Amino acid sequence: SLEYVLEEYGVMHEDIKEILFSAPEIANRIQELGKEITRDYQGRQPLLIGILKGAVPFIADLMRVIDLPVSYDLMAVSSYGASTKSSGTVRILKDLDAALEGRDAIIVEDIVDTGLTLKYLLENLRSRQVNSLKVCTLLDKPSRRKVAIQPDYNGFEIPDKFVVGYGLDYAENYRNLPYIGVLKEAVYQK
Ligand code: 5GP
Ligand code: MG
Ligand code: MG
Repeated sequence: SLEYVLEEYGVMHEDIKEILFSAPEIANRIQELGKEITRDYQGRQPLLIGILKGAVPFIADLMRVIDLPVSYDLMAVSSYGASTKSSGTVRILKDLDAALEGRDAIIVEDIVDTGLTLKYLLENLRSRQVNSLKVCTLLDKPSRRKVAIQPDYNGFEIPDKFVVGYGLDYAENYRNLPYIGVLKEAVYQK
C-alpha cells in the first residue's frame, strides 16, 4: 500500500496518488516474460532494442531473466516532453549502433499508449531487413489506441491513467521510483 511505501521510503513519494504495481509484482511479471521469451526464441540469439529513456529499468531486468545469448541496443525517439498527451510526431534522436540485417529483434518499450510511437518504430525497423521483429512492452493502455497495434509480450494492461515510476517520467522526474504509480493530478495541473 501507499502508506507502507511512504513509511518505508520516506519523502520521495508524496506526489503519488496510488500504486498500481509494487516492485515485487513487477519483478515477478518480468520473470514470467523472460520465461516466455526464452521459450519462444530457443536456438536463436535475440537482439533486444530498448527505447530510451523509459525502458531502461525494464530492459535491464528483462535481459537478465532471458536464458539465451541475448544482446541489446538502445534507440531514442522524440517523446511528449513535459506534456502528458502524445503529439503523434516521432523523430529518431539516437539510432541503433549496429545493422539489423538477419537479426531476431524485440523492441522493448515502457508503455504503449496511442501506439503512434510503436507504429513508427515498426515501420522504420522492418525496412532494415530484420529476420523477425516483435514487441515487448511493460505496460499497455489499449483504451487510448489510435492505430491497430498489439504488443507480442505485455507485462500489464492498465486503465487510462498517467503513470510514473520504474522508468516512466513526468518532466524527467519519478523515473527512479521502484514501483509504478499514478501521479496526483495536482502535480501536472500546476
Ligand atoms: P504512444 O506513442 O503509444 O502514445 O506513447 C508512447 C510513449 O508515450 C511512451 O513510450 C511513454 O514515453 C509516453 N507515455 C504514454 N503514456 C504514458 C504514461 O501514462 N506515463 C508516462 N510517464 N509516459 C507515458
Ligand atoms: Mg517509451
Ligand atoms: Mg516521457
